[in-house]
Amino acid sequence: MSAPTFASLGLSPALAQVCAQAGFTTPSPIQVEAIPPLLRGQDLLGLAPTGSGKTAAFALPLLQRFLARGQGFRRVRVLVLVPTRELAAQVGEVFLRLGGSPARPLKIAVVHGGVSVNVQMLRLRGGADIVVATPGRLLDLLDRNAVRLDGVQALVLDEADRLLDLGFAAERERVLAALPAQRQNLLFSATFPPDVQALADTLLHDAVRVAAASQVEAVPEIEQRTIAVDASRRAELLRHLVLQGAWRRVLVFVATRYATEHVAHKLASRGVPAAAFHGEMSQSLRTRVLQDLREGAVDVLVTTDLAARGIDVPGLSVVVNYDLPRSPDDYVHRIGRTARAGANGIAVSFVSAATEAHMRLIEKRQEVRLAREQVAGFEPVQVEPPERADAGAGGIKGKRPSKKDKLRAAAAKQGDGPQGSGG
Ligand code: AMP
Repeated sequence: MSAPTFASLGLSPALAQVCAQAGFTTPSPIQVEAIPPLLRGQDLLGLAPTGSGKTAAFALPLLQRFLARGQGFRRVRVLVLVPTRELAAQVGEVFLRLGGSPARPLKIAVVHGGVSVNVQMLRLRGGADIVVATPGRLLDLLDRNAVRLDGVQALVLDEADRLLDLGFAAERERVLAALPAQRQNLLFSATFPPDVQALADTLLHDAVRVAAASQVEAVPEIEQRTIAVDASRRAELLRHLVLQGAWRRVLVFVATRYATEHVAHKLASRGVPAAAFHGEMSQSLRTRVLQDLREGAVDVLVTTDLAARGIDVPGLSVVVNYDLPRSPDDYVHRIGRTARAGANGIAVSFVSAATEAHMRLIEKRQEVRLAREQVAGFEPVQVEPPERADAGAGGIKGKRPSKKDKLRAAAAKQGDGPQGSGG
């Protein structure tokens, strides 16, 4: 069988050409699976991490079904709900890139918190074809009668797991009540905990299930490394690695908003162009920082899990877990930021005596075992936590830890606690 093309999946010649112009030579696996059933009008449940091409996988068939023909007046036909501002902007861009026709440009309203509601209300005057929204702001606009959703023919929940994390369960009924009962429903999620499954059960009817390269398969494209280092020396090591490896477009994950600023400042003050990225920054500043990273004005972006959601930087080459993620699922999300659209990437995790056990847990869930590398000049000296001291280097078998051992272990542990990102 010959390889599928966008046209062979059922897309119109015009949309197939738009794909070619966008540089999409062949459809990605999730596009191959999702486009034909979506064109037939089926509901869809997509297990898809970012980077799989999932946005185009739903945008293309929805454009063809609902927005191809010029309409006399504008009614919102497609509603996409997303967890973050950045993702909203990105999804809006994809629709615009794939669906704009000079004869009748698509009108897309991207609505999210953090910017003036008045500007968004103005933009919605006279209707829109597509609304891409975060749920809170959408409800705000509904309350102000600034948007009508009774013509919506397709609803997309993107990154449904994160939508639920951010409280979507409470907002769901109000959003759904504003929509017509008869519509096509799509739900995408990178993970499938029970609450996402429950949401899918209530929302979808006879849905086809598609999965982008499953998370386990997706991992081998990413070179995963772990480096043993004391918590207090992580910033120095990071600087060393960036300079040595001439790393560009590096995303560094830390545990707290404070740490984003602190680590970025440490790097920047020692000759590595770096910036913080977190939820308390103004929208315009966030946009500028992302632009700086894309354009190479900064090499390193230091961020938290929540803020990083939806960042799309082409060619992101390295992800660093400066602080380990709290859950193995977050680990998958984080390392998935690199190696997007088939390119290779590196994911480096810093591991100290105090976080060793946590890293093991992540490895177990990933079904990998990674060697702890050491970098010359940065060899760890802190001892393992007390309960493991017997097995550690330097410990005498059977000898109970001395008072000094215990103190050192306690200090090591403290240096790497949740607030210990200062390093
Ligand atoms: P997404 O998973 O939707 O965030 O898409 C990840 C990246 O892949 C985006 O930068 C898209 O522009 C790109 N992309 C989507 N589909 C294709 C394709 N068929 N071929 C090449 N790149 C693609």
